[in-house]
Amino acid sequence: NSRVNQLHFVLIPLMSPGHHIPMIDMARLLAQHGVFATIVTTPLNALRFNSTIQRASDSGLQIRLVSLHFPSTEAGLPDGCENMDNLPSRTLIKNFFIASSMLQKPFEDLLLGLQPPPSCIVSGKNLAWTVETSRKFRIPRVFFDGMGCFAFCCTNRLEISKVHERVVSDSESFVVPGIPHRIELTKRKLPENLNPGSPDLTAVRNNMRAAEVVADAILVNTFEDLEADYVKDYKMVKGNNVWCIGPVSASNKSNLDKIERGDETASIEVSQWLDLWEPCTVIYACLGSICGLKPWQLQELGLGLEASNRPFIWVIRGGEKSQGLENWILEDGFEERTKKKGLVIRGWAPQVLILSHPAIGGFLTHCGWNSTLEGIDAGVPLITCPLFAEQFLNESLAVEVLGIGVRVGVEAAVTWGLEERSGLVIKKEDVRTAIEKVTDDGEEAEERRKKARELGKMAKKAIEHGGSSYLNMDTFIQFVKQQNEINN
Ligand code: UDP
Repeated sequence: NSRVNQLHFVLIPLMSPGHHIPMIDMARLLAQHGVFATIVTTPLNALRFNSTIQRASDSGLQIRLVSLHFPSTEAGLPDGCENMDNLPSRTLIKNFFIASSMLQKPFEDLLLGLQPPPSCIVSGKNLAWTVETSRKFRIPRVFFDGMGCFAFCCTNRLEISKVHERVVSDSESFVVPGIPHRIELTKRKLPENLNPGSPDLTAVRNNMRAAEVVADAILVNTFEDLEADYVKDYKMVKGNNVWCIGPVSASNKSNLDKIERGDETASIEVSQWLDLWEPCTVIYACLGSICGLKPWQLQELGLGLEASNRPFIWVIRGGEKSQGLENWILEDGFEERTKKKGLVIRGWAPQVLILSHPAIGGFLTHCGWNSTLEGIDAGVPLITCPLFAEQFLNESLAVEVLGIGVRVGVEAAVTWGLEERSGLVIKKEDVRTAIEKVTDDGEEAEERRKKARELGKMAKKAIEHGGSSYLNMDTFIQFVKQQNEINN
């Protein structure tokens, strides 16, 4: 039976950079474990990842990229809108999910012709329809969870206890019940599913939940030693077929892989620039791929970096959305003033390459899960500046649970519209103070750096031959093999 002899994993992410990147990394990990991996994406995304996949394939890995037309106009989105991060407005998110579900038919047609025949679908958990597809093809359907276990456990405890619903004001704090650490939150920091002020995506979420319940297995981008109590809890809630296989970014072994995750010119420039600095001195600031902050908010971040008087790299998104910020940078003379110490990267930075450079001394992050894990893997302390979704929970993980983070002090998720209501989310002085706290010579900062370094070592060990994530990946592959033997 060819499905058993030559296992073939077909991976399909939700169309956004934050979901593609770990999925591509995971495909490479799977191929490194000796199975066939096909990533299904759209033409625009394929362009971006083609060379990485080509090189992996040239090196002997059984891996490829296939693209399907993304039905943007069919679903009422502007032409060419293939990714969640380039939606002109958040109100279009429903259309985006409609377009994503319209991928089902072409995806199934594709599966019919794939060789070797597919033995497993690994999909982002937002693509609930893949459950139906996997049933049609009688192959296991696996979720790739883009969040960590701690964030899940907090959300789950709140959903059950409804503690947050009993507080009156948005800014009143409450403690997440039933978990090993004392985590204080406010309603303003909660993820959208717990947050009644957010856009209504209930139907999409319900579908997602229903699909999750019937999934054959779940892969989580984390490693067991990072959040052991919460991994245990996660498994208790979701059942036994949960495997932690991260940090998947560690599959970017060569510098070329790391460079290709950024724009090419930025990558060459940034490496040379970083070589100029002493170890552990530079602050790397990047707020992920979907930063919803207005230019006048982001200016504060830039001014805070400048005021800290430390060398820094500041990543700002290129394109129309950041035009206001770009104008400010030029008019204010920011870049000219800071050119001795600062490097502004416009567009897409090679984040994993930058973080792995010895000059980096701190990572100012929005606490997206990928970025959080990449910072942990690199062994650097985090300066936390969450914006929305489960990012405030990841901040709590970094600060309270792991002891490797310092808060900038953002008090509310951007989607609450607070920036219009009560002024700045990020303040220059707060940015400066947090950076100073992370980089000073005191005992507390030294202890934080030490913990970060230790976690970095643990992350690397987990993914290496014989480490927990490595073994989990093998067990998962064996599980898929068995399922195929049973079903066919
Ligand atoms: N990233 C990058 N360069 C950038 C911005 C982001 O390489 O300029 C990568 C980053 O390394 C991470 C991903 O994009 O892997 C962002 O995912 P995350 O979960 O941190 O946040 P999101 O963008 O989904 O909010």
